[in-house]
Amino acid sequence: MKTSITYFRIAIGITVFFHSITVDLVAQESGGWKAGVAKTVITPSEPIWMAGFGSRNKPSEGVRLDIYVRAVALQDVVNKPSVLVTLDLAGIEREMADAMAERCRKEFGLTRDRLVLNISHTHSGPVAGLVPMPLYDLEPAQRETVRRYTNDLIDKTVRTVGQAIQGLAPAKLEFGQGLAGIAVNRRRDRLRSLPGPVDQDVPVLAIRGQDGSLLSVVVGYAAHATALSDYLISGDWPGFAVAEIEKRHPGTTALFVQGCGADANPLPRRDEKLARNYGEILAYAVEEVLRGRMATLEGPLRTAFELVDVPFHEVPTREDLQRRLNDKNVFIRRHAKRLLAELDRDGKLPVSYPYPVQIWQFGRGLKFIALGGEVVVDYSLRLKNEFGFDHTWVAGYSNDILAYIPSLRVLKEGGYEGGGAMIYFGRPGPFGAAVEEIIVEKVHDLVERTSASVQGKAK
Ligand SMILES: [Zn+2]
Repeated sequence: MKTSITYFRIAIGITVFFHSITVDLVAQESGGWKAGVAKTVITPSEPIWMAGFGSRNKPSEGVRLDIYVRAVALQDVVNKPSVLVTLDLAGIEREMADAMAERCRKEFGLTRDRLVLNISHTHSGPVAGLVPMPLYDLEPAQRETVRRYTNDLIDKTVRTVGQAIQGLAPAKLEFGQGLAGIAVNRRRDRLRSLPGPVDQDVPVLAIRGQDGSLLSVVVGYAAHATALSDYLISGDWPGFAVAEIEKRHPGTTALFVQGCGADANPLPRRDEKLARNYGEILAYAVEEVLRGRMATLEGPLRTAFELVDVPFHEVPTREDLQRRLNDKNVFIRRHAKRLLAELDRDGKLPVSYPYPVQIWQFGRGLKFIALGGEVVVDYSLRLKNEFGFDHTWVAGYSNDILAYIPSLRVLKEGGYEGGGAMIYFGRPGPFGAAVEEIIVEKVHDLVERTSASVQGKAK
């Protein structure tokens, strides 16, 4: 009996051995990659407060376009899978991202560096999150709706990540870039003399099955998803863009990755026709890239994720905050109330914020840099200039939408993105002048650590 079990085990061992050789040979023929995609509708099932604009005064009244969580899992021949998740939401705060990441770690062994959570920043999505934002003053019943929605959203996101990993199959990865003129630097709206840079690159990652069929398209662009501002749920213009790409390529799952579009708006706006048009423009740009010559991406995929402390310029005192309780601006009053509660609870206010920086390096081919917060365009233009415009993709709005992230230029210019917006995020004050250098330095550290030249040391 013992012997037969041993033979049986050897037989299984040999089968598994040959099976894995076959799978690996197939994987290597296609560049070593496996990929899997999944998507799940996250449209709220009941009226809910909508995120992005503080001026809304009632919950949603219907649905214009379903919203989604989408995931693409990628695996090279060496490492465990990595998963890019995109969500049609205005924001994702640290607590919710941590909850999603922790469950993905427990259930799929997915480490934090191998999970990117990017949001489209749609201003036609629901308020979601475990911690209330001072931008929204919700009644208890509305808070309860948001709590229900958030728990369901976390479940659906984790499940979608699992489905993408389960669907891993041999694939080929290609990268190329186009251009699209959707973004306008919105700070010029207030001051025409401002320089007004924009990033109009359209980075495209095409994931093909072994037969060459298009399994998934990941497309990036840097502009606010604010073409619409009414009471109908949708993914705004990026939602129309991915719907259009999927219509042109039946069976393909398209993902939109928001870039450093903190100071960019699609202009003009506030009309469904415009939102559709911007979506179609991006879909056309993707077609041009797919028709052109794309670079094949090799593995391995080296990853890194770190938090770096970014100091605030100044933190208000209790007296400052008590004075602000009488301010005529409701948002300033709400912000002061929140910080006083924080002060009572913790005995102090934070002097810095642990800012998330994440890097995915695809062999020697593509650097994908995912930054937290609402990042202004200077970061993407600077990082592409430093690492190479042809193979650097800079995403903002990833992992924690903690605040606006101004460059030194924008910080000095002041205005909304330069610090005025901090109160809507509940932060104690504007970032200090070192914000840009601290973040860029951390990006360089992680790029260095994940570069091919230090392959042996990389995880
Ligand atoms: Zn924004």
